[in-house]
This record gives sequence, structure tokens and C-alpha cells, in this order.
Amino acid sequence: MDNIIRENIAKIRRQIPSQVCLVAVTKGRSLAQIQEALDSGITHIGENRVQEAALKYKEIKPAVTWHLVGHLQTNKAKEAVKIFDLIHSVDSLNLAREIDKQAGKINKLQDILIEVNTSAEESKFGIRPEDLFEFIKAVSDLKNISLKGLMTIAPMVDNTEEVRPYFRILNELRDKANELRLTGDAIQVLSMGMSDDFEVAIEEGANMVRIGRAIFEDK
Ligand SMILES: *Cc1c(COP(=O)(O)O)cnc(C)c1O
Repeated sequence: MDNIIRENIAKIRRQIPSQVCLVAVTKGRSLAQIQEALDSGITHIGENRVQEAALKYKEIKPAVTWHLVGHLQTNKAKEAVKIFDLIHSVDSLNLAREIDKQAGKINKLQDILIEVNTSAEESKFGIRPEDLFEFIKAVSDLKNISLKGLMTIAPMVDNTEEVRPYFRILNELRDKANELRLTGDAIQVLSMGMSDDFEVAIEEGANMVRIGRAIFEDK
């Protein structure tokens, strides 16, 4: 029973192509669990909350790429830019400007993704698809931010097939943004797919998946 995390990771690795970046989402997991994941070859970890990440950041020694996958409040941007290599959840111009300002203060070029509300649910964070291109243009003007791609969280569904259209929308938006040359360099990253739907997401072009339960829990 001790090797659940190791076995889960090995299983997921067999299911995803090697060029897909596997981000282990470690929110709520202990340092021992995270260490086990790192010992099993994980090099990217994702956290939801800045404070929780800050505590872990002090303790985790190996070279790890830190991802912020949860919503970021503007007043936490200062702390977030100190910790995270990639912020997935940029969803307002106010937040983007604050990240830019705080990154500038520490001479950092902060990599970000824009969170897109592909399902247009009221309860969800993220830029609406119809507002995305204008938002990308505004973000591209910020000097201390480097836009790498897009992120979405699919709605909760009974049948994973039902999420396919939302992943497809994100892929199309990325391609369209590149066609329109909205950014200096083309954007590449599509962060989409979690424990229940990563296989569908990869079929629709995900090159970064964010997986928590399927790594840390016994099924
Ligand atoms: C928790 C979380 C995940 C991982 O979800 P699982 O269902 O545990 O795989 C991925 N992305 C975000 C934004 C999350 O909050």
C-alpha cells in the first residue's frame, strides 16, 4: 500500500505522451506525500493557494517547477511572483497589471497563462472567449509578463465526453490568437485536463495537465 503514489504516477505516465507536461496538484497534500511524488519523478507541482505554497516552498529542496493553478487575488500577487514559475490563473487586467508591477520589482519576467471560462458558467473565474483577444493584446503590452498560453477548467459532468467541446474551444482560441499574431511569439501552452478528464483533454490538444486525485488517492 505504501507505493500508491509511485504506482499512480507510473500509470498516468503510461497514459500520456511524453511531451505533455504533468503537473502534480499538491494542494492539501503533506510534505511526505509531495516528497514521494518527487521521488517518483515529478518535477512540476501545482498549488491553489499562495499561503499554502509559501509554507511548502521553504521545505521542498529539489529543483521543482512551481505552478499556481488556483485563483489569485491581486493582493497576493507580490508573494506569488516570488514563488511561482508559471501562474495559470490570470483572469483580469487588474491582476495582470499587479503581477507585472511586482515582477518588475524583483527583475523577473513572470510566465503566465490566461484562464478562459470556456463554459461561460457564472460561478467560474476566467476571461470569456469573446473578450479573450482584446485581453491578450492588453496583457502583451506588459513588460514583465510573458504570456505562454491558455488554461481552462472544464465543468463538472457525469460523462467525460461532455467536456470535449470546452477543451476544443480552448485549442481553437489558441490557434486563432496565433493566426491573428496577437503576441510577439506564438503562444503554445494549453493547460487543460484534471484527474477525471485528462485523456479527453490530451485528445483535444492539451500539452499540460493538472492532476491531483489520480496521483495522491487510492481508487
Ligand atoms: C484541484 C485542481 C486540479 C486537480 O484536480 P484533481 O481532480 O484532483 O485532479 C487541477 N486544476 C485546478 C485549478 C485545481 O484546483
